[in-house]
Amino acid sequence: MEKSYLESYPDKNGYFGKYGGAYIPPQLEKAFEEINEAYDKLSKSHEFLSELKLIRKHYQGRPTPVYYAKNLSEYCGGGQIYFKREDLNHTGAHKLNHCMAEALLAKYLGKTKIMAETGAGQHGVALATAAAYFGLDCEIHMGEVDIEKEHPNVVRMQILGAKVVPVGHGLKTLKEAVDSCFEAYISQSDTALYAIGSVVGPHPFPKMVRDFQRVVGIEAKEQFFEMTGKLPDNCVACIGGGSNAMGLFSAFIDDPVKLHGVEPLGIGTKLGQHAASLTFGEEGIMHGFNSIMLKDEKGEPAPVYSVGSGIDYPSVGPEHAHLSQIGRTIVGTCDDADAIDAFYKLSQLEGIIPALESAHAVAYAMKLAKENPKDSILVNLSGRGDKDIDFVVEKYPIPTK
Ligand SMILES: *Cc1c(COP(=O)(O)O)cnc(C)c1O
Repeated sequence: MEKSYLESYPDKNGYFGKYGGAYIPPQLEKAFEEINEAYDKLSKSHEFLSELKLIRKHYQGRPTPVYYAKNLSEYCGGGQIYFKREDLNHTGAHKLNHCMAEALLAKYLGKTKIMAETGAGQHGVALATAAAYFGLDCEIHMGEVDIEKEHPNVVRMQILGAKVVPVGHGLKTLKEAVDSCFEAYISQSDTALYAIGSVVGPHPFPKMVRDFQRVVGIEAKEQFFEMTGKLPDNCVACIGGGSNAMGLFSAFIDDPVKLHGVEPLGIGTKLGQHAASLTFGEEGIMHGFNSIMLKDEKGEPAPVYSVGSGIDYPSVGPEHAHLSQIGRTIVGTCDDADAIDAFYKLSQLEGIIPALESAHAVAYAMKLAKENPKDSILVNLSGRGDKDIDFVVEKYPIPTK
């Protein structure tokens, strides 16, 4: 029998076609090899998988529902829009799906600490939550600029018991935080696990995080089928690194379903105005893997921007680079203005305030519904918008109904 897509990718060295791999300093080769071997075993271990299942049910609140957004669909005047409600996960976003699993992996490896960098603080909060649950130490590296900007998330991490390490060199944002965390990890890899926050980084993280997010797609497929007796015509998700998108897509990859990844177009198409890596980028290596990335004149990761601070990343998971190259996924974009419009529309028509990241997928789905009146569209609503409300109302006045 022919192997399924998920059995075939990545290959044993972590490649999805030509993208992926592990480009790491020699001092860390052993640590990543250990993670790889352990995950290979645990991903087939009944004990590991059933412990994870119980955590998902009793702590995270899974399964999250699939919801038919009747009012929004009628407003768009066409296709039917459904939401997989990852905003209802404990902590308010899909990130906890992989953070709980990564922390469980740390426990099985006998580690006492989990560590990571964070940009807007969402990954840091989810990881600090997982650390609290498992009684592990947690160390989060964060640029000083981001610490100032994302103050509530810094406080959240500290309340949850994490140590936040400020990074004060260079531009003092995500890229420097990654470098700082990698460096700190080199001397601690015996006792700590580096828990990457999306389907990015060196092998095996793109595969592992995809597997940990697959629960979203598996549930959604079953729930959607139960509601409609069919598969959806389209799946839609926003792409930063691409974990919520891979979670949904991976369950439909061998099915006749169109898969749309939505990248942030920010305020324009010039370098620095957006973070649409697949749309405008080229092949390159950063943060330990080969993918499609946005580069500046010197070939370094370019500055990026989006109103959704969880999706402004200058590269993208290697599997997304591969899937778009072979034509299995469709890559679309959504700018700040359309995302803000969708943020308010979903709030006022359905009583659901979405995260600004997720609002990019909502806006794209609204257009798709208008253009394809017969289609059903299943959107991964990756997170809730409580974290964004102060920022949004200050910059974009609340529209009257
Ligand atoms: C972090 C985040 C994203 C982007 O991450 P992916 O790995 O691309 O899924 C999307 N939505 C929300 C709510 C987030 O917090």
